[in-house]
Amino acid sequence: MFFAKLRNMLKRGMFKPEYVPTASLQAPLSQDDLYRLIADNTNEIVRFVDQSGIMLYVSPSHERILGHPPESLVGLPCTENLHKDDWSKIRNYLALAKYNPELPPIECRLQHRDGSWVLFEGRVVSFFNNRMQEDNFLFIAREITDRKRAEEAMAESEAKYRLIAENSLDLIRIVDQHDTILYASPSHETVLGYTPESLIGTRGGANLHPDDYAAAEQNFIKLLETKTPTIDEHRYRHKDGHYVDLEVQCIPLLSDSGEIDRVILVGRDISERKRTEELLREAEKLSVIGELAAGIAHEIRNPLTSIKGFIQLLREQSSGNQLYYSITLDELERINFIVSELLMLAKPQVKNYKPKNVCEIIDNVITLLDSQAIMNNVQITTHFEPDLPLIVCEENHLKQVFINVLKNGIEAIHHGGQITISVVKTDGEELLITFVDSGCGIPEELACKLGDPFYTTKDKGTGLGLMVSKKIIQDHKGRLEITSKLHVGTTVKIYLPIEHHPES
Ligand code: ADP
Ligand code: MG
Repeated sequence: MFFAKLRNMLKRGMFKPEYVPTASLQAPLSQDDLYRLIADNTNEIVRFVDQSGIMLYVSPSHERILGHPPESLVGLPCTENLHKDDWSKIRNYLALAKYNPELPPIECRLQHRDGSWVLFEGRVVSFFNNRMQEDNFLFIAREITDRKRAEEAMAESEAKYRLIAENSLDLIRIVDQHDTILYASPSHETVLGYTPESLIGTRGGANLHPDDYAAAEQNFIKLLETKTPTIDEHRYRHKDGHYVDLEVQCIPLLSDSGEIDRVILVGRDISERKRTEELLREAEKLSVIGELAAGIAHEIRNPLTSIKGFIQLLREQSSGNQLYYSITLDELERINFIVSELLMLAKPQVKNYKPKNVCEIIDNVITLLDSQAIMNNVQITTHFEPDLPLIVCEENHLKQVFINVLKNGIEAIHHGGQITISVVKTDGEELLITFVDSGCGIPEELACKLGDPFYTTKDKGTGLGLMVSKKIIQDHKGRLEITSKLHVGTTVKIYLPIEHHPES
């Protein structure tokens, strides 16, 4: 509408330099005067150019924005003070605009009187002159230097933040108030196995552990209500099915009106920390039990020696009840065995650490248990990697570990089977000793109980074997891991560091 009016006015020569709106301030204002008034007072720059490219009208705003008084430009070619690189752009725009009046504005640069370049965003509108030649045009443009600068600064800071997000090891995601993921950092692929693209548009809480879902949802609702950041711990399902422990910080982003626009979530994988905490707890448990055990064991051992001595004496003096004496002595022997196991748990006494060949120790242990293995129809095979380094260790203690583990294996095989023992050197400068048995296996729900004191499933078990073994391996700065499958068998892995300074 506005352009149509302007076109009319231009046709009638209203924007010719000699035209002066004599009646401009007299009421009532004519339509023509009104439009001239608008062009003269607008903040945009307005130029009317004739078919030969000469500027016939230049709005007064040129002086304020570009430092050029309008009179200094009128009569000059329209390319005057237009950046050379923008000439063809304007020409092309003009050609296209003839057929497409909805064309979005273009950007061009005009030179300020002081030599600097000022950025504009504008439209070029062509129209017929009174000889029906469509070569005249109107150029209307708005200065956008500040806006452009702000946009560039914004893009720059956005690029900076994106760079941080893209390269961060933390999981960074942006969700809307419905928890729909709008952005996910590439670290999602390394930590959780999902590509960022596959997550966008999905619900953020979709892969949470079912037990953690309610608490996380509650937290999110609280964040939406209070608009204050929260911190939360929960388990998130990795693409391959296992759960990763995450510590997640939720930061609300408020819009200008103070409403929550987006929520930024920064998650950190704390599985390792959790594992360390668990190990510390375990170590502490072992050491407390060890101290207790050592105290009790000492108290029991002394009276036990006297009782045993006297029973043996009584047996020699008495002719009857030999069976009872024998049973009593067997039971005392068992108490003695349990007590010595308990003593193993005590704080490290003076130990005799020496470099030893682990394979030789294992061979000795096999010899020791061979008869029990044959009785149970168990076949033991070994695979030792050649040229393995020696391990600085307390030989008798390691022997005890291997006896415990091998005995457990034999006892788990009820109708004949296999036990394979292998020793290899790992890349991490450790020896890995693996015991694989084809025994009954351990039900999953009991796996967490392994190594707890007195946990046993055997009539004659003590439930101390694994606990003592763990403690000994720990003293050697190694680790013991058990994996098992019910009715298939159990694998015990013992890692021992090659370079290790005992008790350091
Ligand atoms: P104990 O042998 O005296 O029962 P341990 O601490 O050596 O005590 O073992 C505890 C329990 O762990 C055993 O009773 C058994 O249920 C289970 N266990 C240990 N090793 C194995 C194995 N190789 N196969 C099946 N179960 C095992
Ligand atoms: Mg045992």
